Amino acid sequence: MPLTTFSAIMSAFCMLCYNIPFFQFVTANNDSALWQRLTLIAGLTVVMFAINFWVCYLLLFLTRYVGRILIAFTHIASATGVYFVWVYQTLLDGTMMENFYHTRWSEASTFFSIPMFLWIFFTGVLPAAYVLIQRIDYGSWKRLGITSAIAVGISLVCALTQFNQFLWFGRYDTQLGGLLMPWSYIVNSGRLAAQYYQANREEEPLPDAFLSPVEKPIAVILVIGESARSANFQLYGYSRATNPLLSARSDLHVLPARSCATYTSAAVTAMMQHTSSSTLYEALPNYLFRHGVDVVWRSNNWGEPPVHIDEFLTMRDLRKQYPEADDKHEGVLFAGIKQRIEASDSSRVFIVLHTSTSHGAQYDAQYPNDFQVFRPVCHTVEEGRENLPGLINAYDNSIIYTDYLLNSLIDSLATIHSHNCALIYMSDHGESLGENGLFMHGVPMRIAPREQYEIPCLIWLNNPFIHVRSFEHPVDQQYIYHSVLHLLQMQSPIYESEKDFFENERQTE
Ligand SMILES: [Zn+2]
Repeated sequence: MPLTTFSAIMSAFCMLCYNIPFFQFVTANNDSALWQRLTLIAGLTVVMFAINFWVCYLLLFLTRYVGRILIAFTHIASATGVYFVWVYQTLLDGTMMENFYHTRWSEASTFFSIPMFLWIFFTGVLPAAYVLIQRIDYGSWKRLGITSAIAVGISLVCALTQFNQFLWFGRYDTQLGGLLMPWSYIVNSGRLAAQYYQANREEEPLPDAFLSPVEKPIAVILVIGESARSANFQLYGYSRATNPLLSARSDLHVLPARSCATYTSAAVTAMMQHTSSSTLYEALPNYLFRHGVDVVWRSNNWGEPPVHIDEFLTMRDLRKQYPEADDKHEGVLFAGIKQRIEASDSSRVFIVLHTSTSHGAQYDAQYPNDFQVFRPVCHTVEEGRENLPGLINAYDNSIIYTDYLLNSLIDSLATIHSHNCALIYMSDHGESLGENGLFMHGVPMRIAPREQYEIPCLIWLNNPFIHVRSFEHPVDQQYIYHSVLHLLQMQSPIYESEKDFFENERQTE
């Protein structure tokens, strides 16, 4: 059989046998006009067929029998996967694959049943056997070139015609990705492996710091904002009252700032590294922890570099610790900070709160109802394309909530007499709210619009001996490391005074 015919059979079989739930999901969750839905389904069918065909062709042509074994394996895996999707309504997303790899045999065996084995036998094992025994005429390199060009060309044209569904794909990417066989489990397993590698990556150690004894214990709190852009902060000149509480303070420093990246993990990594480099150096919490600083990291987000400390708390941990706090929103992330600082027996405390307060695509889900000041709101970025004022209302309400959280934290820090306290708030990146037709964030930094990198940076201190420098140029995330070292009075060879928010006594003398 020619490889072209064989690959076409494989691709069609994969679509009919393993991808019906994917198409059911598309039909059930897209409410655009009928003709748009029909072209979407037709486009997806063609792209799915062409890509699976091409990958099968390429794999078999280049690796011959190794490719056959891999394809045979995906038949059995896809048959098993789609069985669980049908029967248990699961998605083969990242979480499910993580569960899968951590499941013990005794747990897994409770799912076994005769219908399951029959289904896997007929739609997985038999096709796999066929893949291994069918004789194939692999053809020439020239045929490979022509076939590849046609398959890739058709896929690109179809993808471009569906560009108007871009936001819809963004909204349902987890579900669509979790149903698309065989890519759901392949891509999500790859991602897990990458995460595992990332978490276990060796850090390049930094030279030791010198910690002089301090007269009064020090506490530094870093609040990492999510998708907060300075354009919508009243403190930065926005015409709406999005910072009613912080604007009334006279003790707050407002710095011009820009982010180093337009997506979370790169921006948070920039904050946690002392220099911009592809090498992973000892991240700030790890460096401080190694020197005996009492370090706490509380996260309602992700994308942190590997953090090796004793007190890394997720929302699940915090809900257990503070059952009375607002556990649907960020309240629980901010709960009990004062008590935590006062209870510390170290002379230096560093607390990071990694928030997700203005994260799309549902801004209005990020704050409690009391903060629905601007109305009406629309619920998703997708709706916001038709109703921009509603989207901006929801986004602005999330900034009002941020204002409340930060102001309450400052009020509570101001009542601490045992420690010199400092609070730094900086967003990870900005956000597009329809300017030039763009939404959300993540445009590569070289071409990113300013809305995606102009971010707020706020500082509050109760230490009269530390002064914030005045900046004409924007500060960026690389300032965090050096400023925190300064606040905690740690003398380190890696410290750079140019990347410090605060005046250095030696400079001012
Ligand atoms: Zn982010």
